[in-house]
Amino acid sequence: MKIGIVGCAGRMGKMLIKEVIDNPSTQLFGCTEAPNNPTIGKDPGLLVGGDPTGLKITDEAAELFSNSDAVIDFTTPKTTLMHAQLAADTHTGLIVGTTGFQPDQQAKLQALSTNTFIFQAANFSVGINLLIGLSEQVGALLGDEYDTEILEMHHKHKVDAPSGTALALGSAVAKGRGVKLGDVTEPDRLGITGARKIGGIGFAALRGGAVIGDHTVMFAADGERIELTHKASERSIYSGGAVRAALWSQTQDYGFYGMPEMLGFQR
Ligand code: NAD
Repeated sequence: MKIGIVGCAGRMGKMLIKEVIDNPSTQLFGCTEAPNNPTIGKDPGLLVGGDPTGLKITDEAAELFSNSDAVIDFTTPKTTLMHAQLAADTHTGLIVGTTGFQPDQQAKLQALSTNTFIFQAANFSVGINLLIGLSEQVGALLGDEYDTEILEMHHKHKVDAPSGTALALGSAVAKGRGVKLGDVTEPDRLGITGARKIGGIGFAALRGGAVIGDHTVMFAADGERIELTHKASERSIYSGGAVRAALWSQTQDYGFYGMPEMLGFQR
């Protein structure tokens, strides 16, 4: 399967280059970066410390989409939307790992899937998707007598907060309780905040160092606290999941998909 990678010089982009080269079922077909990125013109294999591939990194996304079977995108919301339009125009599958979409951007992304396969996951790890399922179940079992707080920590370069994964975990708890996350999100806490609301779901985002991604969902009652934690120690859990989604696209119709469909979990 011919795979294109956009944003290939990013933290995730480099992992994806290695993953696609190492996977016997995939061929690295082309790579793009933002115009003026210093890696333009370089060989993606050499960029990740491997053998030369004979390819050159370009900023020509339209050409990449015309010729690839699927393209993997871990960039920024604005860039991903531009790529999603190209995916729809060329009927090329798009695998999206980018997070931080505003509601209107998210709606646009989903709308473009009428003309192609679009797969989006805020987190491509199997472990996190299990945690999302468990959080929904625990939320349903405990109800709002247990205060829910979601704590996440990521590296110092991350630009959106709380993480897309933290929001997915919060949505799962809310779904388990039969409410919408937007209706029960606790406001940011700074200064004199007043007491916590019953049934609120709170978020705390820590940033520092090189932390790949830690998430804890806490259910706190007066006499006890339950904590569900996932810690990512290698970015390959995300790149491996994204390549798996690209391979899976070959057997699917046009539409909008995510990890629950691929892993066979219920949404
Ligand atoms: P990064 O900043 O290291 O990489 C993003 C890359 O996109 C950069 O190299 C940048 O130059 C490139 N880019 C920007 N505009 C472009 C354009 N027009 N064309 C081509 N390339 C362009 O960031 P990162 O840590 O790799 O994360 C990227 C995104 O993926 C973030 O939204 C992050 O939250 C998300 N992420 C998701 C998962 C997941 O499992 N879904 C895991 C890790 C990170």
